[in-house]
Amino acid sequence: MTCDDFQGRYLAGDLDPETSAHLAGCTWCRSRIDDLDQLVKQLSTDAMWTAPTPELEDHIVAALAGAAAPQSLRKPGWMLSVAAALIAVIAGSFMLIENRQPDWEIALPATEGVSATATVAGWNTAAGTRMVFSIDGLSPAGDNEFYEIWLTAADGRHVSAGTFRAAGTIETSAGVSRRDFPRIWITLERNDGDEGISGPTVLDTGR
Ligand SMILES: [Zn+2]
Repeated sequence: MTCDDFQGRYLAGDLDPETSAHLAGCTWCRSRIDDLDQLVKQLSTDAMWTAPTPELEDHIVAALAGAAAPQSLRKPGWMLSVAAALIAVIAGSFMLIENRQPDWEIALPATEGVSATATVAGWNTAAGTRMVFSIDGLSPAGDNEFYEIWLTAADGRHVSAGTFRAAGTIETSAGVSRRDFPRIWITLERNDGDEGISGPTVLDTGR
């Protein structure tokens, strides 16, 4: 295993016997551990994880450049290859953030006459609100119908947060924050070209 491989794998959190053996036998990599740990810490700040930017590679290369490599490692692309490994880590972490605990989770009660249970988990993001609905027992929409998710503000403005046809897990997002648009409700709409709210409400957090 080369020092490159080791550092890429160490930064990726890949600590198998092979990487451990390299670390035990390589003074150079041992001397780099503090820097690598520092870099991992720096990269695990929220800002880096939530907003990977095109400048990320430059940023990582700049961070790596802080540590001097011995002559043997000063080959073209050394830092870029570690940067590439890190970007892969961050891409993975970007998925992790999708799996982080929701910022809020609430029940979505069924309206009278509707037998269904539902909860919605939400994540406040820079883009608005990401939501995952877990809906059980709602009958599938008919041929010319669909369910539509709405978020409504205290002053009555509302935005659609997507449509679906059957119960299950529905992932969606809206370009508003739930703080401003606290009511979440679902109507059964006819596929009639009318984009307003006209169908009956089936699930509703209430105002
Ligand atoms: Zn090494």
